[in-house]
Amino acid sequence: MKLITVRDIAIILLILIPSIILLAINFKDDGTYAEISCDGNVVKTVPLSEDAEFSVNDIKFSVKENSVCVISSPCPDKICVKTGAIKRNGETIICLPQKVSVRVVSEDKETADIVVG
Ligand SMILES: [Zn+2]
Repeated sequence: MKLITVRDIAIILLILIPSIILLAINFKDDGTYAEISCDGNVVKTVPLSEDAEFSVNDIKFSVKENSVCVISSPCPDKICVKTGAIKRNGETIICLPQKVSVRVVSEDKETADIVVG
């Protein structure tokens, strides 16, 4: 009796191959811009390739290593700060009290992944 059968290998491959493909897609899917919206209108677009700090509606943002995060905000819950850095195409940081949202966009395509914070 063999410990690993052909069927086991087939199952392992069936699980592994999609994971590898997903991983490869995700690596490609890093966004190129951060789009900051205030009250539903895009007020600022910043490239993620250049480190920078800026503020919109009293919220301080930091762009570092191709990602964007909220470093400080006057909102009471600080969910936007706790969300941390986002960098993948379609990821979003939302600050409801300040009506500000940040969305990572890429030049070519859009995905529906959303991180609500
Ligand atoms: Zn907030």
